[in-house]
Amino acid sequence: DWIDVGDVIRAAMERCARYFPQLAVEVSVAPDLPLMQGDSVLLGQVLFNLLDNAAKYAAGEPVRIFARTEGGEIVISVTDAGKGIAPGDLDKVFEKFFRPGTPDGRPPGTGLGLSIARGFVDAMGGSIRAESPASRRRGTRMVLRFPIPSGAAMTGEPPA
Ligand code: ATP
Ligand code: MG
Repeated sequence: DWIDVGDVIRAAMERCARYFPQLAVEVSVAPDLPLMQGDSVLLGQVLFNLLDNAAKYAAGEPVRIFARTEGGEIVISVTDAGKGIAPGDLDKVFEKFFRPGTPDGRPPGTGLGLSIARGFVDAMGGSIRAESPASRRRGTRMVLRFPIPSGAAMTGEPPA
């Protein structure tokens, strides 16, 4: 399906506002963002899983969502100013059941959210990776990239 990334982001934010009313989210979508080939339910669930994590691991800090084109791709980033992810864990967090740290004082969870997110992103032909500044151990950025299909109209009109 041709989906409007901005619409999906705004719907995910509305859903999150009901579950995590304390989480502040700022969104910026490039006005010329082309439609994307994907599934709005899957992309919405991916964004929800990322915001669920921000609510758990970056409590009290606002989250910023950007969507723009870069190098022929649609790039969506979800950035928080929370506790960050250790450099050695940046890939492992996408594995099933991987949860760094010890159970004591850790927010509840099963360790499935990001593996599900990666599965959905893969199914839509995209990629997802985690970035966290090693020097400061402060904040996490989740970066999603999706190819812009040839024939994607820059006007936002789906090709016939
Ligand atoms: P579930 O999503 O199943 O409720 P979970 O949040 O532990 O449980 P994932 O979403 O897969 O599982 O995340 C795996 C781990 O990655 C988390 O336990 C957490 O340690 C780390 N992590 C994920 N997102 C963030 C984030 N925004 N900031 C800091 N750590 C994070
Ligand atoms: Mg999670």
